Amino acid sequence: MARPALIVHGGAGPVPEAERTHRQAAVERACDIGWSTIGTGALAAAVAAVRHMEDEPLLNAGIGACLNSDGVVELDAGVMEGAALRAGGVACLRDVRHPIDLAVAVMEDGRHVLLAAEGASRFARDHGVEMADPSIFITDRKRQELIEGADTVGAVARDGDGHIAVAVSTGGRVGKLPGRIGDSPIPGAGFYVDDRFGGVCGTGLGEAFIRLGLARLMVIELQHGMEPASVARGAIDHLGKALAAPGGVILVPRDGAPQAAFNTPAMPWAMAE
Ligand code: ASP
Repeated sequence: MARPALIVHGGAGPVPEAERTHRQAAVERACDIGWSTIGTGALAAAVAAVRHMEDEPLLNAGIGACLNSDGVVELDAGVMEGAALRAGGVACLRDVRHPIDLAVAVMEDGRHVLLAAEGASRFARDHGVEMADPSIFITDRKRQELIEGADTVGAVARDGDGHIAVAVSTGGRVGKLPGRIGDSPIPGAGFYVDDRFGGVCGTGLGEAFIRLGLARLMVIELQHGMEPASVARGAIDHLGKALAAPGGVILVPRDGAPQAAFNTPAMPWAMAE
């Protein structure tokens, strides 16, 4: 028997002072929702937490996500299970109600790891994933245009059988070029998990996470026996020193407590054990 654990974050972008407590509360609600499903497994818990955050308009995922340079919301999401290294990523979605649901469908289908844009939407329709009018993602155009940097939401869960899963969802970076894909749907960049060592996910400048292969690097460090807290801190130092990039990470090791680290002024996060 393993000791269940869940850690959830709401992004490491610069949060306006007035929104800080509201964003923290949104992340705590997501953590409660995820934790209430931990009995059905790590995947269910991580996905439930992220799915909830896709509906929190102050977080940069799903409804309320940041706008690209055309003033449109394009969403990325990813999911991975550490038992058999199954993964699914979806990118540049404009009309899928819950990107994380589609990432799960891609993972479960198993033929591919990453689907983007129109082909991903078609796959969603063919697999009965809920679609949405793109306008529903915009609740406050002015605010969504001005989100500084951006954010991501993510969760890593460990269940009583020792299985670890990670789920991530994001609107990416504000003002990004149409078609830009960040780190969040890419295993090894924005997230990675292997039951034997632990699971991680990140938020921050996606281009830097991709260039450093940061999530994969963190799991390799866990594999080599580094302390989980040093792995989290070290990843953030590396992000800053190598590429001067802002960001944050959360992780759940194979045993022991979840960890969080960030180099931005704030990153709302919550955990349950
Ligand atoms: N990592 C996300 C991306 O680059 C955005 C963020 O977390 O700030 O798409």
